[in-house]
Amino acid sequence: MHRQEPCPARSARAAQRRSLAKRLAGTLTAGIALTGLLALTACTPSPPSPLPDPRSTGIGYEDLRFRHILVIEVDTLRADHLSAYGYGRETLPKTMQRPWLVVEGYTAASSWTVPSTSSVMTGLDVHHHGLWDVQDQGPVDPLTAPTMGSVFTAAGFSTGLYSGNAFLTPLTNMGDGFQEKVLEPLPGGGAELATLSPHILNWLDSVAVNGAGSSDFLVFTQPMDAHQPIQPDLQDRGTWSRGDLLFDPDATRQDQAAQIADAWATGTPEQRSQLTTDVRDVYDETLLGLDRSIDVLLAELQTLGVLDTTLVVLTADHGETIFEDDSYTHGNTLRRELVHVPLLLLAPGLTEGPVDCLSSQTDLLPTLLRFAGEPPLEGVDGRAIQDSCRASTRSVLLANDNIAWLDAATSTETLSWACSPTGTAAYGFDVATDPAALNPVAAADLKDGEMLIEQLAALAAEITAGRPTFTCASPI
Ligand SMILES: [Zn+2]
Repeated sequence: MHRQEPCPARSARAAQRRSLAKRLAGTLTAGIALTGLLALTACTPSPPSPLPDPRSTGIGYEDLRFRHILVIEVDTLRADHLSAYGYGRETLPKTMQRPWLVVEGYTAASSWTVPSTSSVMTGLDVHHHGLWDVQDQGPVDPLTAPTMGSVFTAAGFSTGLYSGNAFLTPLTNMGDGFQEKVLEPLPGGGAELATLSPHILNWLDSVAVNGAGSSDFLVFTQPMDAHQPIQPDLQDRGTWSRGDLLFDPDATRQDQAAQIADAWATGTPEQRSQLTTDVRDVYDETLLGLDRSIDVLLAELQTLGVLDTTLVVLTADHGETIFEDDSYTHGNTLRRELVHVPLLLLAPGLTEGPVDCLSSQTDLLPTLLRFAGEPPLEGVDGRAIQDSCRASTRSVLLANDNIAWLDAATSTETLSWACSPTGTAAYGFDVATDPAALNPVAAADLKDGEMLIEQLAALAAEITAGRPTFTCASPI
């Protein structure tokens, strides 16, 4: 992969962009402002450096090939709330009646949309693709690495992107290269799969079935069914939730978030416990509608005559904490509820059932290319999971200019470091016996502590190279 010179110090550039954004605000249209900002900030993050990562055998299927691919990346979908991952409720029963291959141990590269979906689109870790320090729809660096859309379009596929998430706009250029785009405008967002599917089907009918384009296709959709505001379909309300909720399921995103935050801030311990139950119940009820929408979309693909030749991928960009850490949100930490996301594959020739494969979002693009019979991308962090799973995964979250979280994990243990100008912290958890991560364990007492420290030390070296004022934790 061609790479340009490394970017200058990120903190200085970030301040420059914010200053520029303030000057531009209110004086230019969004489109003009963005065009200027993207041109000003074009540069390339440092290239990946190899990290020690001994790997196990992959999931197999090295010889299976699919030139029809549908990726459903549901926003804010926790793996542990899906029936396929052992959840106690049948949240996606119809979908789960299909013979999905369930990949255990798939890990998000970060815990909110922009950095995590950018890793999905590029196969690069967060600190390598560089889209990590944007909040509140502010100006961002453009991705300069090849993206999923551009790679598959260049390979001769018809490519379509259908997103309900407002971050998948030209603002972030995550969707570069897709030929057909149906995107939510800024500000806004929130389209669910039932809204996006007709666009997908109309386009597929015109290009893949009726031959107006290449019959090979890649569709990527990012619906918002599980994202706030949580608004279950009417028919699903009351499946688990009680009638007298502590928030309004029909409120707007901002109003519902304020209601929930206020109820938590002012609640007694008993009221907080009830609020947690209410949010979890209503979140789960949104998954029933999502399940029906997936089932309808797959049935329509069958009607079009392409389901039997299509690789369907069901995954998520990140999860959501439901007050495990006293918050109902994402993007603030790298807790397991946020980075353990589903990866389910459905296609002829794939065997139904779980497969143990510790893997990263950076692996998805290489994996899809392998299934498509295309050559691997040079210089990416991910690898096709057909022939190699990982011994550990890593995630990065730059919360703001004052702190970055680094996380390395095996399937049973996690180790987190904080990097900041003012202080450091390190936390290890044995999530096999402590899934809520309530009882920190010294890194030296973790079975794989040495390997996880090695992973974090390599990450920390790269983070502090770009942010010299940061120091990162030493293991406790
Ligand atoms: Zn998201």
